[in-house]
Amino acid sequence: MIDKRILGKVVAKPILEQVSRQVAELQRRGWQPCLASLEIGVTPEVSLYVRNQERVARQVGIRFEHRQLPAQITQAEVLSTIQALNTDPRIGGIIMQRPIPRHLSLHALQEAIHPTKDVEGMSPFNIGRVVYGDSLMGPCTSVASLELLKSTGVELRGLEAVVVGHSEIVGKPIALYLLESLATVTVCHHGTHDLPSHTRRADVVFVAVGKPNLIKADMIKLGAIVIDIGINQVECMNEDGQLRTKTVGDVDYEGVCEVARWITPVPGGVGPVTVAILMRNTVQAVQLTRQRYENSMQV
Ligand code: NAP
Repeated sequence: MIDKRILGKVVAKPILEQVSRQVAELQRRGWQPCLASLEIGVTPEVSLYVRNQERVARQVGIRFEHRQLPAQITQAEVLSTIQALNTDPRIGGIIMQRPIPRHLSLHALQEAIHPTKDVEGMSPFNIGRVVYGDSLMGPCTSVASLELLKSTGVELRGLEAVVVGHSEIVGKPIALYLLESLATVTVCHHGTHDLPSHTRRADVVFVAVGKPNLIKADMIKLGAIVIDIGINQVECMNEDGQLRTKTVGDVDYEGVCEVARWITPVPGGVGPVTVAILMRNTVQAVQLTRQRYENSMQV
């Protein structure tokens, strides 16, 4: 039986090892990387992501400072918190945990984060660099998804790629990265008339929608690669008849395993690599700040 799983922990390991070495080097030079996390209101999934980020940050030597802001906070108050973090020399990177309450403008908050501290790669400056094909700190989940694909050893040039979902944070940047590697890219969304007709001809399918079982075995070409980014909580029965919640992706994993050559499991696929890229971006952010500082000290 061939193991078809692309395991996130395997792909994340060398990334985190490199981050640990870079953190040690920065510390030796007197720079302690510190990642500031902002959470607005309380959402159980967000608390889980934050705990994971904090655990991995600690593992690689990055200080993690989490700030819990009240759900009723005003836009102006969040903006002033971001400004304070932008100018605080101890803070290397800033992550705005999602979702945020509806009364706040995500675009305005993302734009307020200084581009050299924008470790999520979502400020207009950093997104613009993805379009230029010259990204310094790319959006974590999209970079992670590409790392998982590359770990299979597949040649990206000429690959027929289908991206399902066109969000700013996942689907669109994935499509741009694929284009940069000369894959032929189709992006599907909820206006797409016949989703299976697109996914069935793809060598690789990325799915980032948030709908369990959206992608089934008969929608995937034999031997294709499937990168499942979705995270959904579904109810199921355990062995003793008790109802419980489990985490699944957007892909019918068991069915698609029969036809795909490679597939990312959920959990254990994209998630751990996303956190590893967040740590890599944090180190990159600190290195940028250090360069800026050292250049300004030169006479
Ligand atoms: P999002 O902003 O809600 O975007 C979902 C996308 O799916 C939209 O572009 C939407 O198109 C499209 N869509 C909706 N129904 C569709 C359908 N029936 N067929 C095709 N496309 C459809 O979500 P997101 O932030 O990109 O996240 C997507 C999923 O990835 C979620 O489950 C999220 O939890 C997960 N996620 C995972 C990670 C990770 O690290 N593993 C990170 C981020 C997100 P329209 O806008 O046209 O409706």
